[in-house]
Amino acid sequence: DAAMYESKASGRNSFRSYTPKMLTFNPESISLENDMRRALERDEFVLHFQPQVDLATGQLRGAEALVRWRHPERGLVSPMHFIPVAEESGLIVQIGECVLRKALAQVREWHDQGLPLFRVSVNISALQFRQANFARFIETLLAEHGVSGEFLELELTESILMRDVEDVLDTLNAIKSLGVRLAIDDFGTGFSCLSYLRRFPIDCLKIDQSFVRNIERTPINQSIAQAIVALGESLALGVIAEGVETLSEAAVLKGMRCSQAQGYLYSTPLEPRSFARWLANRNV
Ligand code: C2E
Ligand code: CA
Ligand code: CA
Ligand code: CA
Repeated sequence: DAAMYESKASGRNSFRSYTPKMLTFNPESISLENDMRRALERDEFVLHFQPQVDLATGQLRGAEALVRWRHPERGLVSPMHFIPVAEESGLIVQIGECVLRKALAQVREWHDQGLPLFRVSVNISALQFRQANFARFIETLLAEHGVSGEFLELELTESILMRDVEDVLDTLNAIKSLGVRLAIDDFGTGFSCLSYLRRFPIDCLKIDQSFVRNIERTPINQSIAQAIVALGESLALGVIAEGVETLSEAAVLKGMRCSQAQGYLYSTPLEPRSFARWLANRNV
């Protein structure tokens, strides 16, 4: 196993092979990494889209793009099973590029098919965000697909924002100047240093689903969600609740004047054709 890893590691990060962590390196993740490389070459990653709706009117406000791996033997593999290894190995950069391309190609296709216009949100990993010229890369992709920046939102985690604040601010400003929206994913679960909300050009907070679960009978979740909604209101940020599964959860959130929601109550993530069908059925 050591030899196997060393040959893989010769090149970038070869020092890592001498850290104690490598001695217990899980060989399974090496083969997973190799499989993911092959999956990129074979174009096995696909996107599903989950609707984001206005809580008051039920209207579609956007869709989150969520990656899946269409594995030749194992079928559709959840990102929870490969994103962590992709992040550890650095492959997340290429997978993330592939996801952005596919998301914008899909927006283009939906526009061309005459679907009502809506924004697509894409999850961005820390490593991907820190690539040199990330903002330029987004600009190029938008131009390549002929998509206006207003139809793209990037979902960032709090951990992305906490390091190298000046560099992060430059990148965020450059992305904002393209008209792209910025959302904080899993809000409230990270380091939650609220002062960054003042400095960074953020548009939207996503209330993590752990605070939404059973909110109607969990006072602590209610308090946290209410606080996030109030924060959003006073800073003029949009607030969207994730993982809304029941009518009672939606009712409580609506009562708090949370503006948007996403979750199984409205729809699971759908492959593009099903998404278009879902949308058509709602509008008739
Ligand atoms: P996330 O960004 O927090 O995405 C929300 C997850 O909650 C998705 O899981 C979604 O399918 C699931 N979900 C949506 N509504 C409900 C609900 O009502 N109840 C419950 N229990 N779950 C719901 P998924 O698709 O398995 O993705 C898991 C995580 O993988 C994502 O969490 C995100 O962190 C990561 N991920 C997915 N796609 C990408 C990607 O393209 N790039 C990166 N870097 N990460 C991704
Ligand atoms: Ca997300
Ligand atoms: Ca989330
Ligand atoms: Ca999450």
